[in-house]
Amino acid sequence: MLSWQSDAVDAPYELLETLEPGISRILAHNPSAFTYYGTQTYLIGDDEVAVVDPGPDLSEHVEALLRAIGTRPVVAIMCTHTHRDHSPAARPLANVTGAPIIGCAPLALESVGPRADAAFDGDYSPDRILADGEGIEVDGRTVTAVATPGHTSNHLCFAVGDALLTGDHVMGWSTTVVVPPDGEMAAYMASLDKLRQRQDRVYYPAHGPAVAKPQQYVRGLMGHRMQREKQILRLVGEKARDIPDIVAKAYPGLDPRLETAAGGSVLAHLLDLEKRGLVVQCEQQWSKAA
Ligand SMILES: [Zn+2]
Repeated sequence: MLSWQSDAVDAPYELLETLEPGISRILAHNPSAFTYYGTQTYLIGDDEVAVVDPGPDLSEHVEALLRAIGTRPVVAIMCTHTHRDHSPAARPLANVTGAPIIGCAPLALESVGPRADAAFDGDYSPDRILADGEGIEVDGRTVTAVATPGHTSNHLCFAVGDALLTGDHVMGWSTTVVVPPDGEMAAYMASLDKLRQRQDRVYYPAHGPAVAKPQQYVRGLMGHRMQREKQILRLVGEKARDIPDIVAKAYPGLDPRLETAAGGSVLAHLLDLEKRGLVVQCEQQWSKAA
């Protein structure tokens, strides 16, 4: 989460890369501290395609997707969730191709609060919402929704055979950001456990490289969160009572651009601990439950 550097970016932007038969991807040019090199849009199918995570509404990206699609019919435009680096290109792509937008539910939040990561796409309006386990047919393959709330409450992964497109639930370069009010730590952990029990061969995340040993990787992510939780509980016990103080102690040397995100992540842990009766909160001050 801490190592991203803008001058280190030398990625194959807007080029179609084939990963395996029927699965290819195109990297959008939206690098940041949260998106790594950028958002990876996936194309599923050969004779006809589904587009997964169309990405940000950047004209060069939409044009690159249209070039990659060529004359092939687009069966569906699918979004894992509605952060602005994932879903906004769905509408312009749908307008040109006539394809339906099928996938995660829209999010109608009263207030998303001060968001540390990419904000929500309030314009997202799907033609069809997929429930957990529901699928669509694309070029002889089934693309199945795997509900994985946590990073956002509406997050879906998509299974294609024994490959899993993991969106932001599991990323290939960093632990995912879980920021309240929409992000929820208990849901995120349950969604990791759900993946741990699957037998996927490979993960293709929206950010970062493919994950070749999914179960091992997911166990590592779960262990990391449990360590973090233990550490936060200990710091609260040692009178690190507010979030900035906990962040300073838990994330030494943190990239300042990620301070708000780290604070959100700490808050997500604290709210989860509070629900479980382990900590209590009083006017931004946290302490161990008696
Ligand atoms: Zn996201």
